Amino acid sequence: MDISYILNEYAEDRENYFRAVAPPIIQTSNFAFEKVDDLRKSFEDEYATWLYSRGLNPTVEILRKKLAALDAAEDCLVFNSGAAAIFAAVLANVKSGDHIVSVKGVYTWAKKMFEIILPRFHVTHSYIDGTDIENFKKAIQPNTTLFYLESPNSWTFELQDLQAVATLAKQHGIITICDNSFCTPLYQKPIQLGIDLCLQSATKYISGHSDTVAGVLTGSSKMIQKIFNSEYLNIGSGIQPFNAWLLIRGLRTLPARLERITKTTIQVIAFLKNHPAVDEVVFPMDESFSQYSLAKQQMTGGCGLLTFSIKATAVETIETFCNELQHILMAVSWGGYESLIIPACSGFKRELFNAVIPEHRRMRLYVGLEDADYIINDIEQALKKAPFS
Ligand SMILES: *Cc1c(COP(=O)(O)O)cnc(C)c1O
Repeated sequence: MDISYILNEYAEDRENYFRAVAPPIIQTSNFAFEKVDDLRKSFEDEYATWLYSRGLNPTVEILRKKLAALDAAEDCLVFNSGAAAIFAAVLANVKSGDHIVSVKGVYTWAKKMFEIILPRFHVTHSYIDGTDIENFKKAIQPNTTLFYLESPNSWTFELQDLQAVATLAKQHGIITICDNSFCTPLYQKPIQLGIDLCLQSATKYISGHSDTVAGVLTGSSKMIQKIFNSEYLNIGSGIQPFNAWLLIRGLRTLPARLERITKTTIQVIAFLKNHPAVDEVVFPMDESFSQYSLAKQQMTGGCGLLTFSIKATAVETIETFCNELQHILMAVSWGGYESLIIPACSGFKRELFNAVIPEHRRMRLYVGLEDADYIINDIEQALKKAPFS
């Protein structure tokens, strides 16, 4: 399906709502039935009817169909956060006694699930360096049922060879889940590479305006329907109609925003690489990246999010630089219209800062929709104020 068709027309039934160009927000909790037998049928199969908005809702359905099509997946569920999508996807595919192989450096709340919640139910995990397929082979135990992937991750951007991992998993009857938040379906299609379940935080690029928290999960009809009938309905973490409507709105401009951010990111990276105070820039679509050839092979793009470090000998240099930024906001998340920064040193006590450790000097920059010069000038003026000794 053509991307323009998916984003502009697909799954929209305008004849049904006054030929309105924008779809309606069906802000209802429940749906009425005329006959007892219709209600009975709905109780028998909630997946086939409008019954209650914790399950299916028409506004959410427009979004689900578009997101499934973008991923070239059979079906999709949309959650009230990316974390909820992760939770449902993992929970649906493990039972007591199972073992998960996860790549290291995954999203914080995936990690917390593996480390804090799942052990209470006797589900164990191993973290591996996912850049080498051999590490997956070595980590498989007789009770391994799940490979949890994130390619690239959102700080250091390590990739996994998704096709190779999917092939290996299939040989062992292991299910694969991949967090695709960095790329979006426009720049990487894990399902087409053989991954079973693809998820993303729609809070990031799909929303695109820093005003919605949401998560997407796509996969085969069979797997998605199973999750709908258990975790989705039972945890009750589905997206609300208004937020679904905001995401449909976000989708309209997704290609235009990504194209713009891609161009700006290249300019910002060129500036950073040429600045004498910058000693490292990490970005998967840059030639200097250690897995650049794999990135080119399985991704068609990647924009906005990068990590760089400055030649600071004390934590004050990094703090002054970040505090002096006039336009780039210091905030978590990314994928919105606004450029953002987070210094790694905000994640630990300042006494523990050690300039010899490159990771301590890193900052994650998200390049938003502003003009390239606007962003670059802000970085430049803040670097001038930072005390380099
Ligand atoms: C933000 C993020 C999530 C979690 O999504 P929320 O919408 O914040 O719950 C998951 N994975 C990655 C890579 C993220 O950046």
